[in-house]
Amino acid sequence: MRYLVLTDVHANLEALEAVLADAPQHDAVLFLGDLVGYGPDPNACVQRVRALPGLTALAGNHDWAALRKVNPAAFNAFARQAVEWTDRELDSDARAWLSSLEPRQDSDVMALAHGSPTDPIWEYLEDSSQGPPNFRAFGAPVCLVGHTHVPRVFIERPDGSVDVTMPEAGEVLSLDGGNRFIINPGGVGQPRNGDPRAAYGILDTDAQTFTFRRVPYELAATEVKIREAGLPAALGNRLRFGI
Ligand code: ZN
Repeated sequence: MRYLVLTDVHANLEALEAVLADAPQHDAVLFLGDLVGYGPDPNACVQRVRALPGLTALAGNHDWAALRKVNPAAFNAFARQAVEWTDRELDSDARAWLSSLEPRQDSDVMALAHGSPTDPIWEYLEDSSQGPPNFRAFGAPVCLVGHTHVPRVFIERPDGSVDVTMPEAGEVLSLDGGNRFIINPGGVGQPRNGDPRAAYGILDTDAQTFTFRRVPYELAATEVKIREAGLPAALGNRLRFGI
């Protein structure tokens, strides 16, 4: 099976469309949460993602905040403004579908979590010290996560040691060798590793590989829409810098 792996779209329709146009042939789609929040097109992004064939989808912290399942007071000022705007903007259909999503889901083949296996809504997985408790929190060889908007791989060796790597665009990670993996493809709609291109991944369970991909998109158009929606201008500016 080849899976298209998407996370953190954040209501950025231009980035989402660029990724869907760029994605190589795949059998199913895994979306790891935060479809809305920050960006200007929450309803259109919900419609586009929910219609993708073979979709498994998670909720993220911004989705839950827009639905008031978690308190937006936990967010910084710009994120909170965007969450409140999204709450007003979401139509009832999009709201009902988003409400049906959970932030973690496991199968025999892989685990999926928005933030981390131990804290799927809030934990940012960044440091190797976070590896051991999180590898203990799922049984499959691979867990896919989002939330940080930064491509990153945690590798658990057979001796229990954990390494963290920051994969380059285009890098192909081999998933064999007796290791276990927690993989973040990077964010579609608001990349944060200094590269403004939309990030996503392809998981191939036959070839046992994960490929990290990037694609440029019309971020100037998104920036204009953010301003016209009355969202904080900083949420548009940051897209240019990939921060
Ligand atoms: Zn996010």
